[in-house]
Amino acid sequence: MDNINWSELSFGYIKTDLNVRCSFKNGVWGELEYTDSEYIPMHMAATCLHYGQEAFEGLKAFRGADGKIRIFRMEENAKRMQSTCDGILMQRIPVEKFCEAVIGIVKKNERFVPPYGSGASLYIRPLLIGTSAQVGVKPAEEYMFLVFVTPVGPYFKEGFQPTPVVILREYDRAAPLGTGKYKVGGNYAASLSAGEKAHELGYSMVLYLDAREKKYIDECGPANFFGIKNNTYITPKSESILPSITNDSLMKIAPSLGIKVEQRPIPETELASFEEAGACGTAAVISPIQRIDDLQEGKSYVFSKDGKAGPLSEKLYNKLRAIQLGELPDDYGFNTIVE
Ligand SMILES: *Cc1c(COP(=O)(O)O)cnc(C)c1O
Repeated sequence: MDNINWSELSFGYIKTDLNVRCSFKNGVWGELEYTDSEYIPMHMAATCLHYGQEAFEGLKAFRGADGKIRIFRMEENAKRMQSTCDGILMQRIPVEKFCEAVIGIVKKNERFVPPYGSGASLYIRPLLIGTSAQVGVKPAEEYMFLVFVTPVGPYFKEGFQPTPVVILREYDRAAPLGTGKYKVGGNYAASLSAGEKAHELGYSMVLYLDAREKKYIDECGPANFFGIKNNTYITPKSESILPSITNDSLMKIAPSLGIKVEQRPIPETELASFEEAGACGTAAVISPIQRIDDLQEGKSYVFSKDGKAGPLSEKLYNKLRAIQLGELPDDYGFNTIVE
């Protein structure tokens, strides 16, 4: 693409050549169908519109140092979508079909995969929705699975810089026994108003506490949380957070950097002892946290005084990026190379 300024791209939407769809009807998944239409013809009583039968995923493809395209942890995303389907009673998309669609749509839009060195990547958005018409509250009988891609720019245009995060105790994102562990649109709708408030107050993100006791750290809006102290990467164990694949990847590579890993409940009070903190997810890999303000309690936990990310966060970030870009060997089998 001659007319795309890759390094200036934001996390927006740019139309690519094709998207791919697959329908579940009469008890079977059909064939993959490629289309250049950006629209979905749908019945007005579809369950996704009324009762939130909507599951999504987010993953990325990168152009590597060797010119090859690598898709990061595609099968893990496929499995997580199945878990979401089980959680809100939607028809599971088979892992093979998910992967076939993802690889297929990346290949068909190869010219939109940003060049190596631009910092940009191809964002892949799989979506699964209940489509059959129903007014009674029960799971749909028909589903549509769809994957589109769009190039997105480098997350850190001004470098790997920490930002302030806020705890807003008047909001919950997910209930302890609710849908927090599934990747559904409803969780995002539930987080919009807190997110807006945080932005108005000058924070980049909301850090949610557990809804039951407001005592333990859950996660940041669309990203998991981790803290670092005593050479240990510590991330919450909670029934209401989404199992981030980036977090899982960081936990897997940490030992190779001599960093220990703990996954356990983290009381808010422990924040005072962390040397570094960050949020992790596909969009940024790691967003270092400068400080966390708990407004109602009048507390502030500061992790960065010099405007720089901590050394271990930076090491973890650099290593994961290098694996994604094929600069380091993929010892963990994270990448699918698109041939
Ligand atoms: C998608 C998501 C994440 C990040 O998961 P990754 O697989 O690392 O991208 C974290 N929290 C929530 C609520 C999410 O929806």
